[in-house]
Amino acid sequence: MMAPVASELGIELRVLAESPGACAAAVVPTSPVGDYTDLTTLRDFAEGVDVVTFDHEHVPTEHLRALLADGVSVHPGPNALIHAQDKIEMRRAVDRLGLPNPRWAAVTSPEELREFGESAGWPVVLKTPRGGYDGKGVMLVESHEVDSDEVASWFQRAVDAGWNEAALLAEEKVDFSRELSALVARRPSGHIRAWDVAESIQVNSVCDEVIVPAPNLSEDISAAATDAAKRLADELGVTGVMAAELFETPGRGQGFLVNELAMRPHNSGHWTQDGSVTSQFEQHLRAVLDLPLGSTERVAPATVMKNFLGGSNPNLFAAYPSVMSEYPRAKIHTYGKSVRPDRKVGHVNVTGDIADVEELRAIARGAADGIRDYPTPELD
Ligand code: ADP
Repeated sequence: MMAPVASELGIELRVLAESPGACAAAVVPTSPVGDYTDLTTLRDFAEGVDVVTFDHEHVPTEHLRALLADGVSVHPGPNALIHAQDKIEMRRAVDRLGLPNPRWAAVTSPEELREFGESAGWPVVLKTPRGGYDGKGVMLVESHEVDSDEVASWFQRAVDAGWNEAALLAEEKVDFSRELSALVARRPSGHIRAWDVAESIQVNSVCDEVIVPAPNLSEDISAAATDAAKRLADELGVTGVMAAELFETPGRGQGFLVNELAMRPHNSGHWTQDGSVTSQFEQHLRAVLDLPLGSTERVAPATVMKNFLGGSNPNLFAAYPSVMSEYPRAKIHTYGKSVRPDRKVGHVNVTGDIADVEELRAIARGAADGIRDYPTPELD
């Protein structure tokens, strides 16, 4: 989704695609296919570019350090990105900065997990420090499950993968009122701009819907959340867009606890395509190129973003005539991905008045569900 704004600004993109069918390759003419975990591939790819940036966090940190040593400009740099790659490093940094964390521990065995659960309370949220997304890599563990084969296999995975200290992250199960996202962008020279704090609604640990501004969010929590995201971006030296995912916990922490960090355009910021003067995709490009950041003001009082996952309709386009006619206010964005069950294949943005937020949600839901569930003709 950086490609349209790059083209508008005359910025030439080059994408290292995972496969010939990668959706970015369909919209970026120079898209060599290669393995982002292979340093030689990365070096070849980086030759001649002004800056290397990412749309996911999985490029090995040591390879990014090697690129930096070669003189390549990498944004965000590995010392910042590590906090989005490794949740234990992120927890340590949040503690170091005095920002509010849930209770947590790095655990290397079922015994240490039990010890943590006995003091933090059951169930415990067990996470792989690396490689997780959309809830993959997150497990709820009750006290009677600590010695299960599944928990043992997770610890084995930490050993096999060679993660730092072969540790997993154990967290208390936070009793939160909702999830929030504080989205900011920072350029290398240090200038930061923040968007309004969003509410993000998860279904089965996958972002389903985002509402901006977060309805009825107290001014204190909003200001503290924005300050926390700015501080994290500043002190970790983040360049580009960063989302701080937060648990709203009125009366605890600063009214929120930090969940995790993402250092790239993030699902909780897709609303900015239609709801903000500058979209997160444009802002990311501006930031990593150290160009002046654009205004993050809302262009409408409220925006609702609703994701659609792969469902029964394999041909999204087939749904357009009916959905576009029924929901003319819905802005449809698709990713050019083939439709697979539960794969994020697009989202819908709807803008309007704050007082009408439930109507905006209904429109967004109607359009997204209408595309996902559009009845496919029976094949003979
Ligand atoms: P991912 O990297 O897969 O997005 P997260 O750490 O964000 O993983 O966890 C996915 C979801 O699981 C969160 O959005 C939240 O709904 C829930 N979750 C994660 N950690 C906790 C926790 N400590 N307490 C309660 N719920 C949690």
